[in-house]
Amino acid sequence: MTFNAIIPSSERATTVLVAGGAGFIGSHLCDALLQRGKTVICLDNLFTGSIDNIRPLLNHPNFRFIEHDVRDPIAIEDRVDRVYSLACPASPRHYQKDPIGTMKTCVLGAINLLELARLKGARILQASTSEVYGDPEIHPQPESYLGNVNPIGPRACYDEGKRAAETLMFDYQRAHGIEIKVARIFNTYGPRMLENDGRVVSNFIVQALRGEPITIYGTGSQTRSFCFIDDLVRGLQLLMESPSSITGPCNLGNPQEITIETIAREVLACTASNSPLRFEALPKDDPKRRKPVIDTATRILGWRPRVALQDGLKTTIAYFAMRIAGDSPTLVP
Ligand code: NAD
Ligand code: UDP
Repeated sequence: MTFNAIIPSSERATTVLVAGGAGFIGSHLCDALLQRGKTVICLDNLFTGSIDNIRPLLNHPNFRFIEHDVRDPIAIEDRVDRVYSLACPASPRHYQKDPIGTMKTCVLGAINLLELARLKGARILQASTSEVYGDPEIHPQPESYLGNVNPIGPRACYDEGKRAAETLMFDYQRAHGIEIKVARIFNTYGPRMLENDGRVVSNFIVQALRGEPITIYGTGSQTRSFCFIDDLVRGLQLLMESPSSITGPCNLGNPQEITIETIAREVLACTASNSPLRFEALPKDDPKRRKPVIDTATRILGWRPRVALQDGLKTTIAYFAMRIAGDSPTLVP
C-alpha cells in the first residue's frame, strides 16, 4: 500500500510550510512531501541547518526556501494548508550554546507559527520531544507520563521550551479551534546529521571513521532508543494527516532500547574501526534511561518503525564516509 493510499483524499493538502526545513529531519521531510506532490515552503534561519541539505530541491518548481527566524513574526502571501513546527536546534551542544535563544525559539516560534496557522486556517504539527519526560522515573515512557524535568538545569531551555510549545498548541486549540498535532520525537539518526552535531550516533560514527577515540560520557550504561530517519518522517506525515480529532501527544520513536556502550561497539563493528573507547564526564541532568511506548502511534496511525538499527547504522555510516572522503567543507577539524 502506498503512503497516499492511506490518506483520505479530502485531507490531502497542497501547500506545506516546513519551519526548520533545512535541518536534519526537516530536509528529509521536505523530500518526502515533494515526492508526494506537495508544494513546500521551507523556512529556516540556517542556525544548525544547511543549504547543502536542500540544495537538490532549490530548482524544484514546487519548492521555495525562505531564510527567516521563527522568533520573528511570519508573513506568507501564499496559501498554507499545513505547518510543521520543527525549527529548533536539537543537539544539547547547539541548544545550550544560546539557551535564552533556544527558549525564545521554542516559545516565540510556536506562537508565530500558530498565528500563521490561525490566519491561514492551516493545521499545525509541533515537533516535541522525549525530553519533555526529563530523566524519567517511569520506564518505558507512555504519553500519560508527566515527566521529571529539572526546570533550572542546563537542559531546561530545550526541555521546558518544548513543554511550553506543547502548552501553546493546546491553548491555541482551545482558544481558536486550530487543528493541532503534537509529536513527541525520540532520538532519531540518519544521513544529514552534522559531523559536529554533538549527538551520540554522529559523534561515534565520525570518531570511528577517523580512528579517533570514541567518547563515552559516564559509564555508558545509560540507554536510548534510536529511530531511523525514514521511519520518523513517515510517522510525522501519518500524524499530520490523521483525522482532526487526533491531537496527540503521540510518541514517535523506536522502542529498541540500547546502552550507549553497546551502540559504541555496534558502530565500531560496522565501521571495522580500531578506535579505543574513552570515558568522559557525564553531562549534568543526562537522562539515565529512555524508551518510548508507541501503542498510541501503532493504534491510531498504524505506525511502527521498520528499519533495524544495524541497517540504519550502515546507511548513516555510508553517508558520513562519503562526506569525509569528499573532504566536505562543513567537516569540523
Ligand atoms: P536540526 O538542528 O538538524 O534542525 C533544526 C532546524 O531548525 C535547523 O535547520 C535550524 O537551522 C533551524 N532553526 C533553529 N532555530 C531556528 C530559528 N530560530 N528560526 C528558524 N529556523 C531555526 O535538528 P533536527 O534533529 O532536524 O530536529 C528537528 C526538530 O525535531 C526540532 O524541533 C527538534 O527539537 C525535534 N526533535 C528532534 C529529535 C532528534 O533526535 N533529531 C528528537 C526530538 C525532537
Ligand atoms: N553521549 C556520549 N558520547 C557522545 C555524545 C553523547 O556518550 O559523544 C551520550 C550522552 O551523554 C547521552 C546519550 O549519549 O547519554 C545520547 O546523547 P545525545 O546528545 O545524542 O542525545 P540526548 O541526550 O539528547 O538524548
